[in-house]
Amino acid sequence: MAIREIIFLPDPVLRRKAHKVTQFDNDLQVLIEDMIETVRDAPGVGLAAPQVGVSQRVIVVEYAEDDEMEDSPKKLYVAVNPEIVQPSEETELGIEGCLSVPGLVGEVDRHTAITIKAQNRRGQPVKIKASGWLARIFQHEIDHLDGIIYTDRATRVWKPREGEEIPVD
Ligand code: ZN
Repeated sequence: MAIREIIFLPDPVLRRKAHKVTQFDNDLQVLIEDMIETVRDAPGVGLAAPQVGVSQRVIVVEYAEDDEMEDSPKKLYVAVNPEIVQPSEETELGIEGCLSVPGLVGEVDRHTAITIKAQNRRGQPVKIKASGWLARIFQHEIDHLDGIIYTDRATRVWKPREGEEIPVD
């Protein structure tokens, strides 16, 4: 495994529509392992392949349901070719940051619940149900696969004050 370099705006790879994954080969396994190591190192809660310069439809999300609890177990999700199905009508505003847009945060309206249809790292179909923060992280990461950055959707974007805690993905 290796930590890959995270790319920043205005790198054009971040604005490209990523390619659908068709080969579930060793290169894909290495990419996924590297992405997991990279997001843990950052640290962040999610990472999309374009953020490490790879224009492929792969995301990793690692999130602890209750981040108030220090030992709350983190759950790791790997989604290949993810698609959002059944988005809730209800949306809510929340604050997001992005590893590819350092130094800024923004307020973004997202669906409160979604189902994701994807493939796992072996190419088998999977369904993931997500709500709340987890749903927000998935929407943010899947946007990256279409060249969309949260600042495109944000109702406002600002530089956080010193000590202001921000989520990064
Ligand atoms: Zn991001």
